[in-house]
Amino acid sequence: MRTSQFLISTLKEDPKEAAVESHRLMLRAGMIRQIASGIYTWLPTGMRVLSKVQNIVREEMDKTGALEIAMPMVQPAELWKESGRYTKYGPELCRFTDRKENEFALGPTHEEVVTDIARREIKSARQLPICLYQMQNKFRDEIRPRFGVMRGREFLMKDAYSFHMDKESLNKTYQDMYDAYSRVFTRMGLEFRPVEADTGSIGGNHSHEFQALAEAGEDTIAWSDGSSYAANIEMAEALAPTYDRAAPGAEYSEVATPGCHTVDEAAKALGIESNQVLKSLIVHGEKKEDGSNELVMICLRGNHELNEVKAIKIPGIADPLEMATEEEINNFTNAHTGSLGPVGFKGRILVDRTADKMANFACGANKTGFHLINVNWDRDVPSYEVFDLRNVEDGDPSPDGKGTLHLRKGIEVGQVFMLGTKYSEAMKATVKDETGKDVPMIMGCYGIGVTRAIAAVIEQHHDERGIIWPESIAPFKVAIIAIKPSKSQEVKDVAENLYAELQKAGVDVIYDDRDERPGVMFADIELMGIPHIITIGEKSLKDGVIEYKLRKTGEKETIPVNDALKTIMSKFEN
Ligand code: ATP
Ligand code: MG
Repeated sequence: MRTSQFLISTLKEDPKEAAVESHRLMLRAGMIRQIASGIYTWLPTGMRVLSKVQNIVREEMDKTGALEIAMPMVQPAELWKESGRYTKYGPELCRFTDRKENEFALGPTHEEVVTDIARREIKSARQLPICLYQMQNKFRDEIRPRFGVMRGREFLMKDAYSFHMDKESLNKTYQDMYDAYSRVFTRMGLEFRPVEADTGSIGGNHSHEFQALAEAGEDTIAWSDGSSYAANIEMAEALAPTYDRAAPGAEYSEVATPGCHTVDEAAKALGIESNQVLKSLIVHGEKKEDGSNELVMICLRGNHELNEVKAIKIPGIADPLEMATEEEINNFTNAHTGSLGPVGFKGRILVDRTADKMANFACGANKTGFHLINVNWDRDVPSYEVFDLRNVEDGDPSPDGKGTLHLRKGIEVGQVFMLGTKYSEAMKATVKDETGKDVPMIMGCYGIGVTRAIAAVIEQHHDERGIIWPESIAPFKVAIIAIKPSKSQEVKDVAENLYAELQKAGVDVIYDDRDERPGVMFADIELMGIPHIITIGEKSLKDGVIEYKLRKTGEKETIPVNDALKTIMSKFEN
């Protein structure tokens, strides 16, 4: 490709809307452009990367024996009603009606559609197992689209769905997909960790996420330094402390804490550490028949954070988690949010395992502007339930009993789920077993965020000059920069010749023939992250050499013109 025939859309200035490096660099390198919030066009440079990633994904999927299909993006609401998700999925599901008032949704995922296909097409258990996949744009009306294609509203996903007669067969395909995902992300040059994960709105009972390690990640993963344990913090169990609760001391008493709204403010006013203060939050219980919500108190040690995923798994708690409003709290307790506590609280009280070990602690008095000190469980709060409710922290013991947990930020680039029969039962996707009985097929589903994974690669591979693509997915593998070819026939001839040779050898090469200032061309090529850069100038040609630079390390060397092709090709990783 010649730059004169290509669309180079690099930007000199940093775009203001970009909060993370990958977003900034994808805009600056001319890969993507936003057309509406969370909705992007992929320009030619971006598209070349996207195609290469798609090829890798397709190759690895095909290796597992999965079969490619293309399902529609527009899905009849009927199917979502059958599965029960039409009401449950929430406002991320974009719903609309056609001119005949038929209801539809834009597919955020395809369990319903593929289960419908399976129940129609799969007639006999002998056709199982089967795995169907597609690569297709998904639409999720995300509440906060951000970070460019990392959290878009329209984004490209590879989604696969497998169907089985028995659990063993599902286990095998799950492992095949897990291995294929590991190969995909390795080939893309990502540093990643598979971690145990929650199943969220997709459902099922066993799942792993593939997390690309990056500070810009929205997820936190916990990993053990003493074993292979790794989990999304949503799932990581905080073990109950092994020490005993201290014995209660003096009776509790009330202390004025005017203007204290947070645990830290109360601790300071009381002259104690925040881990001696109880944090009390009020959430909604499940909706009652009259539409109202019971209010439930959740108690944590002052310096701990509530884990919402753990909370919604407790029976009787609203899913998704809803915090009680200030008004509801005032009506129920006569106090403001900053002065809540379990003593005398009239509703259900859930206590975190570590908070349960606190003794002689401080908490809100359910009276605005007051706290209680020397409070003790049982003696002062006779009725409460203990659960694992908090996020694990760096230094906590690993839940498998081996080693200590540490935390890192991750970008979720893929997830694999064992679904079981959630969809096949609801939608009657059955096959006959050997006794002739109709049994629901057992399912798995497997997603890769193709466009998000590209942003994750950039988060891991960039410097102050721009993107540093791994060779496997670079828009071009080699760039030739010709310096003032209009002024030197020799420069022009050598550049044209090398360009032709590289093309003939099947190398993805971009030839910068814009006749721009060298600095401009170099800046663009480095910004675009081309791994191997050749500069051809009149001066070095006098010595019979051209200049080679490896983008990744910045190392430069001169190579003889008559040996150029061979030397450049010897630099390739593959
Ligand atoms: P998240 O927790 O980040 O919202 P998810 O768990 O809801 O994602 P899945 O249903 O597991 O997403 O979808 C499969 C993959 O699609 C994810 O692993 C992720 O890489 C990608 N993905 C999900 N939502 C988005 C989005 N809004 N923009 C880009 N990629 C996304
Ligand atoms: Mg997920």
